[in-house]
Amino acid sequence: MITKGRGLLIVISGPSGAGKGTICKRFMEKNKDVMLSVSATTRSPRVGEVEGINYFFMSKEQFVEKIESNDFLEYAEVYDNYYGTPKSNVEEMLQSGNDVILEIDIQGALKVKENTREGVFVFILPPSMEELKQRIINRGSETNESLMKRFKSAYKEINFISKYNYAVVNDKVEIAVEKLEAIISAEKCRVDRIKDSILDSKEGIIHEQLYD
Ligand code: 5GP
Repeated sequence: MITKGRGLLIVISGPSGAGKGTICKRFMEKNKDVMLSVSATTRSPRVGEVEGINYFFMSKEQFVEKIESNDFLEYAEVYDNYYGTPKSNVEEMLQSGNDVILEIDIQGALKVKENTREGVFVFILPPSMEELKQRIINRGSETNESLMKRFKSAYKEINFISKYNYAVVNDKVEIAVEKLEAIISAEKCRVDRIKDSILDSKEGIIHEQLYD
């Protein structure tokens, strides 16, 4: 019998307004066995955001304590607030064989790339810069200053696309989600990921590939 191997670490980033959040939400609705890592942040909760579901909200002092005790897989300062990925949660989920999504900014993604040898890095792009601007405006949650900051960063951030393995243009959410599903399926067929299981259990893996 095939034992469930280590889960896949999927790192998703892209400029503010590209639709990472919407894509991840829809993806999670369709793929119940995939876990979304809940980040810690020092930013204040937005209306409707729930502690432990959207973020672990904390003070800067609490966040710095966690940095000092090496509790984060990565952390970064984004738009004047700290954001970080709790290391032990992610590790537990991966070890239990669950795929885990990190929806994090580019600095964080680059740190994950440096600190771990695993990870599938996916960059979400808007259909155009004009559309990106419109989406940030429509969201209505940003002040004018924050909007300009996010829009200017988007221009810089897109230059980092070459550090990623895959790019998905978010024109239509359903299609973008299908592309993400296809990426994950393909990654799970990569010989360098599955060769040990194949060699450990030749009969079983052939059965799994044929009938799953
Ligand atoms: P927002 O304030 O809109 O929820 O998030 C702002 C940015 O912070 C987004 O680009 C989001 O992907 C990023 N972010 C959220 N959580 C983390 C995290 O744990 N680490 C890093 N590096 N970025 C994060």
